[in-house]
Amino acid sequence: MLEKIRRLEQAASRLEPTADERTQLVAQTIDYGESFLRRLPDMNAFEAHKGQSKALEQAFGEQPSSMTELLETLDVAVDREGINPASGGHMGYIPGGGIYTSALGDYLADVSNRYSGISFGSPGAVKMEQWLVRWMCELVGFPVTAGGDLTSGGSIANLTAIVTAREIMGVRARDVDSSCVYMTTQVHHCVAKSLRAAGLGDCHQRTVPMDENFHMDVSELEKLILEDRASGLRPWLITASAGTTDTGAVDPIDDIARLADRYDIWLHVDAAYGGFFLLCEEGEKVLRGLDKAHSIVLDPHKGMFLPYGSGAVLTRDVTWLAQAQSYNADYMQDAMAGEGEYSPADLSLELTRPFRGLRFWLPLKLIGLAPFRAALAEKIWLARYFYQQLSNTPGWEMGSFPDLSVVTFRYLPERGDANALNRALIEAIQADGTVFISSTQINGNFVLRLAVLHFRTHVQQVDYLLDFLKTKVRTLCS
Ligand SMILES: *Cc1c(COP(=O)(O)O)cnc(C)c1O
Repeated sequence: MLEKIRRLEQAASRLEPTADERTQLVAQTIDYGESFLRRLPDMNAFEAHKGQSKALEQAFGEQPSSMTELLETLDVAVDREGINPASGGHMGYIPGGGIYTSALGDYLADVSNRYSGISFGSPGAVKMEQWLVRWMCELVGFPVTAGGDLTSGGSIANLTAIVTAREIMGVRARDVDSSCVYMTTQVHHCVAKSLRAAGLGDCHQRTVPMDENFHMDVSELEKLILEDRASGLRPWLITASAGTTDTGAVDPIDDIARLADRYDIWLHVDAAYGGFFLLCEEGEKVLRGLDKAHSIVLDPHKGMFLPYGSGAVLTRDVTWLAQAQSYNADYMQDAMAGEGEYSPADLSLELTRPFRGLRFWLPLKLIGLAPFRAALAEKIWLARYFYQQLSNTPGWEMGSFPDLSVVTFRYLPERGDANALNRALIEAIQADGTVFISSTQINGNFVLRLAVLHFRTHVQQVDYLLDFLKTKVRTLCS
């Protein structure tokens, strides 16, 4: 038997590369990263699909492949088509980030593979995450009773918040038919997904009217609440947005919070896109009242420029999250924390999870806060600059003045179909590929949308887009 075990040990030995092999692998990996970053300024923000991912359809064999060959596959099959999220030219949807020092944090977190789910497993990893959560709670103005959890992204963070609201507000399955939820049409679609996943899809979902700049209309909200109460229904959840994905509008959270308080309704604020603008003065002016929410979602992989895989959910009272996720498992008996101390697993749907703190903590410490503040203010001013430049150019119809860093706009041709022309513009931008923007429907019109949030987006990319738009419109209309 021992001989068999030794044979298997030998056969499995490739799982652990030798020190020399590691040196070689790291050098090749770093080389790849460096060559990518060197090429990046000349790379497009968007490349049309050429079917290169087909190269990945190869059976997994028993024998090893060479790193050289695999990096080539990565280059050809993955890194040369579709949207390039590392590019500063990416100004579509909500751009991500990908600061380099985060990648180093992920490397270190993965090498030691610290278990950050429970304090007993790694007091340090858990403390690091708690410290980041505390920092975000202070940023939004929550009291010391607040807490939260680092998630994989905003969608899961929204789901966690909605499940928590359901539990704390005591909405049971039998109550769903008589319960009302309030939001605008501009709320992110993941909220509807979350409601459904949380068994709340059949709640009365009230669509609150908005002002002409897509902010929730608070007096209309109150009207709806009163109507529902009068008909014996129970208003229990308002979902507001601090920066909608579509137009970047920030709902009047302060006023909404007053209603939530008056009528005993849970106020959830989805600040996945906009929340971190609190770090700059320009954003702070717009983002009032977040401290009065019951729960908030932030996306560090947007406003803190981290690579994808970092969201956060915060609640004004940490025990709400804990109560909603409370569990009991005999096999966990050694790991149970003391009274009043919560580990991520006590506050989350996840048990085993990546050590998400290091990719966030390392850049914050290494870089310091000042550059983050500057970059966020720069994004707001770039959006204002774009808005101003195009407003001053005849023919362009601008959407709302940007609350944060999203601008909607379209060209109105003297003759012909505006929707077709703006669709042609988007197609031309994508075919060019140097920069990337997306489009949306506003009041039934095909509208273009600029979202500035990448830390590599500067005046250069915005000017390129302005020139491109003006030139293209001339050829399309001639
Ligand atoms: C991006 C976004 C989400 C979804 O977050 P993911 O991180 O993509 O899962 C939710 N709400 C808003 C306002 C967003 O901008």
